[in-house]
Amino acid sequence: EYTGMSKERIMEIRSKNLSPMTTKITYYKKPVFIHQGHMQWLWDVDGRRFLDLFAGVATVAVGHCHPKVTAAAEKQLKKLWHTTNIYVNAPINEYCEKLASHLPDPLKVIYLTNSGSEANDLAMLLARLYTGNYDIIAFRGSYHGGSQQTMGLTSHSPFRYPIATSSGCTHTMCPDVYRGPWGGSHCRDSPVQTDRQCGCAQGQCAANEQYIGQLRETFHTSVASRVAGFFGEPIQGMGGAVQYPKNYFKEAYKLVRERGGVCIADEVQTGFGRTGTHFWGFQGYDVLPDIVTMAKGIGNGFPMGAVVTTPEIAASFSKAYHFNTFGGNSVACAVGSAVLDAIKEDGLQQNSLHVGTHLMTELAKLRDKYEIIGDVRGKGLQIGVEMVKDKATREPLCPEAMMEIFEDVKDMGVLIGKGGLYGQTFRIQPPMCITTKDADFFVAVFDRAINNYMDRK
Ligand code: PMP
Repeated sequence: EYTGMSKERIMEIRSKNLSPMTTKITYYKKPVFIHQGHMQWLWDVDGRRFLDLFAGVATVAVGHCHPKVTAAAEKQLKKLWHTTNIYVNAPINEYCEKLASHLPDPLKVIYLTNSGSEANDLAMLLARLYTGNYDIIAFRGSYHGGSQQTMGLTSHSPFRYPIATSSGCTHTMCPDVYRGPWGGSHCRDSPVQTDRQCGCAQGQCAANEQYIGQLRETFHTSVASRVAGFFGEPIQGMGGAVQYPKNYFKEAYKLVRERGGVCIADEVQTGFGRTGTHFWGFQGYDVLPDIVTMAKGIGNGFPMGAVVTTPEIAASFSKAYHFNTFGGNSVACAVGSAVLDAIKEDGLQQNSLHVGTHLMTELAKLRDKYEIIGDVRGKGLQIGVEMVKDKATREPLCPEAMMEIFEDVKDMGVLIGKGGLYGQTFRIQPPMCITTKDADFFVAVFDRAINNYMDRK
């Protein structure tokens, strides 16, 4: 039972003492006042239970307050919290060995950070030091962080400020097979397809060639056509679960390497089994990045991040110190280690695949029923539902309509997310422990919310 401060008092403090940006993000018109969490459930201060299908932006990987993770944190809290980086102690070594065992050779050298932004900052630095080049390419619509460096890498207007962000970041066309001009959504790696064919012939994706053509053009905008690195989220998160043709990364990685660059997979949202078929999103494309960055799910909500790279690239980073006070602290390492155990013991990668495929299949039925659902896509439990005014033009559904449906879904007890360049995509990225029953409940709620919206129109 909640015995804390009143909602009014909380809002008063929020408006006075929290940053104006925080005050702006209540996410809902009638905000949710969260009090407690357990696995896929959240309770508000009135004792109302919500099914959490957003997991704090794909962050709670194994479940809110997962007993195993909580116990590991508690145990370590009583033993040692800190001094990790200047003395030798077991937790960071145990954890790095375990994390490395989840990555293919030669990705075995780990830097622990406290967030995804820090991890991507470091990845940019590594790419530049190792290659001696400067230009870095990322996708339009990407999100890679909120630090001044990563804000330059990010290409999504709500997250950009009119300041000098890092120079040397160029954005290439996102090979979005639903919204992009050449289609190709039957060439994406998802259990559901739309009819945006691209005229493939003999296993060659015609759209892919066009999107790769855009990347080739982007190289010509770099200094001497040389690049330091290429960043890609295996499935765009904030961008709205945007997927690319299956072969895109394979060809892109080859072209980047020919120009002296390294390839970086931003697994902040797609890592740790979320995509179901594999532990890492990049594995679904059959490529091997040179650097992998991760955060969010790595700590199930505990502030953590990591950069993993090869010994060769890491060696370029040994001429001066790189110090991070909290990165790799013993509590974070104990948490991270328990998260990896929970993913394995609870069979969460397999569950992501099973429940995610079921959920997308059911959502695709709603897509066929309603004119305003343009696309259902994703892999495992990284899912997007793109809303449109009409299917033929793919004009995005307006923010007001999105908000109405979003709020209605919440009022019926389910929390989901929003994203996309135009805010037109609902995002489902729950704790990976949800069941098919939870998925069915959401589908019924979503169906009702869209019906309600149509009735009001
Ligand atoms: N990369 C991606 C793909 C993300 O989604 C995010 C956070 N939304 C980040 C990087 C930045 O992570 P953090 O907020 O931990 O700095």
